[in-house]
Parts: sequence; structure tokens; C-alpha cells
Amino acid sequence: MPWRPGEDLLHLLELAAPTACGGCGREGTRWCGTCRQALAAGSARRWTPTPCPPGFPPTWTHTAYRDEVRTAVVAWKDGGRADLTAVLAVPLRGVLAAALAASPDHLGTLRGTGRLPLVPAPSARAGTRARGEHRVAALCRETTLGRRARLPTVDALRLARRVEDQAGLDAERRRSNLAGAVRVRPGAADRLVGLPCVLVDDVVTTGATLVECARALTAAGAGPVLAVTLAATHRRSSGTPTQRARGRLSEASGAD
Ligand SMILES: [Zn+2]
Repeated sequence: MPWRPGEDLLHLLELAAPTACGGCGREGTRWCGTCRQALAAGSARRWTPTPCPPGFPPTWTHTAYRDEVRTAVVAWKDGGRADLTAVLAVPLRGVLAAALAASPDHLGTLRGTGRLPLVPAPSARAGTRARGEHRVAALCRETTLGRRARLPTVDALRLARRVEDQAGLDAERRRSNLAGAVRVRPGAADRLVGLPCVLVDDVVTTGATLVECARALTAAGAGPVLAVTLAATHRRSSGTPTQRARGRLSEASGAD
């Protein structure tokens, strides 16, 4: 049998970092066929939280934040699974296309100027350091692969101050916790002023994060703001305490 150094190296790397599906944990694959089907079963749609907070931008999403999708997003964001960026970018591409098709201002800008910025929701700096990258910014770049000149990722938003963990806060305190917390970083505003833009986040729950990001973008002279996310959490006040806690946790994750 011929010696194939490349294959041997790959085998050794696999031994060092065993593969498991990011959605269900099945061994031997990083994203299994069942989870692929589950993710593909969603479809781009307009989404509004209930209750809808004032200033919530028009938002499009792909699927519900639960089961395999939730496991994959958590693994991607906090479990070192940067390889899932490419998996999650596939449905987000569909969401972006559907959102633009339904938004004359944004589509007109893209056709007229040949350029429409994508703005990732900000990451807490500690989170970005731990992950080695700003995951949502990486997701934006992967989503627009091949079209980056026309759909540039402008990583413009920063947290201006520390925010309390959203977990355990009611809707009103959640809003006040984030109010004024996001700003457009110096030097980025000139790439956004006077331009419609697309705000991107992985998960939307109560909408508090998207509202605050849209406020910061509008205050800096950008807009109108359209938002796209991969998934949405359906959080109802009539849910069980566990379901409500899950909603809060996912919002906290989404705010990061
Ligand atoms: Zn799987």
C-alpha cells in the first residue's frame, strides 16, 4: 500500500480532535445528515417578538432556536466549534436574500451603489478573546462569500459599557440594561452614514439587542436598518419557568 503522508496526518489530527456532530453529538461527523435536514427544514420568514419592543427593526429569520439548532449555536459560540460557521451560513444566506427581496430601500441601494453593508451585533470583548474571533462577524463574512465587495461586513458596533447578564431580568429591566450600551466605534461611522444597512445576529429573543443596535446605527446616521438572524426564540409569558429561563439565557447569549 502506498504511503500517503497527507492522509496519515489527517488521521492523526482526527485522533487528536475527535469529530462529533455539532447538533446531536453523533461521532465521526462534524454535522450529520439528520441535523442537516433539520436545519434545512426552516425557511426565511419575517419575525416579530411578542410583545414587540418600540424601535424593533424589520427582522427576518430562518428557524426556531431549539433542539439541534440551539445545540449547534451554543457549540459554535461557546464550545470552540468555529467549523460550524460554514454550516450556519447556508441558511443565513437564504434569510438575507429573502430580506433584501422584500426591502426596496436596501435592494435599491445595493443595485444603485453596488454596495450594502452588513453589521454584526457586537460581542462582549471577553467572549471575543475566549473564542479568538468575533463569531457573528465571521458568520457575516462566510454568508457573503463571493460577494464581499458588494456586501461588506462592517464590524462597527461595540459595547460602550458593561451590561448586566440579561438572565433574570424582566423585559423592562432588559431594555434599560441595554439602553445606550451599544455605540458605533470611531472610524466606522463614515462607512455607514447615509446608507441602509443589514444588522446580523445569530439569535433573537425579546428583540432588546436588535433594538439597541438599530438605535446606535440610526444615531450614527445609518439606516434604515433591516435585521437578519439565524434563529428566533419563541418566549411566552405563559411558558413554564424552565422555558422562560431558557428564553432569558438565549437572549443573554444573543446579546453577547
Ligand atoms: Zn447531528
